[in-house]
Amino acid sequence: MDCKRIIKLISDYIDKEIEETEREIFEQHIRICKRCEAILESIEKTILLSKLLYKKKKIPKKIEKALYYQIRIRYKK
Ligand SMILES: [Zn+2]
Repeated sequence: MDCKRIIKLISDYIDKEIEETEREIFEQHIRICKRCEAILESIEKTILLSKLLYKKKKIPKKIEKALYYQIRIRYKK
């Protein structure tokens, strides 16, 4: 699985809407890929903060979109 695929899966992974087999592949990749690991960490932190801020279970779609946009930009560099 390549990094682009991982990025697409991150949101599902965090929302725990990921299939078991995909989760395994995802976690395997995170363990060997420092870049994806760092990205997952920063996303988790940001989402955690937004959840605290908005006191909601799910962060607003707008913020989520902005977040993933930032990640995609970072990946292109
Ligand atoms: Zn990766």
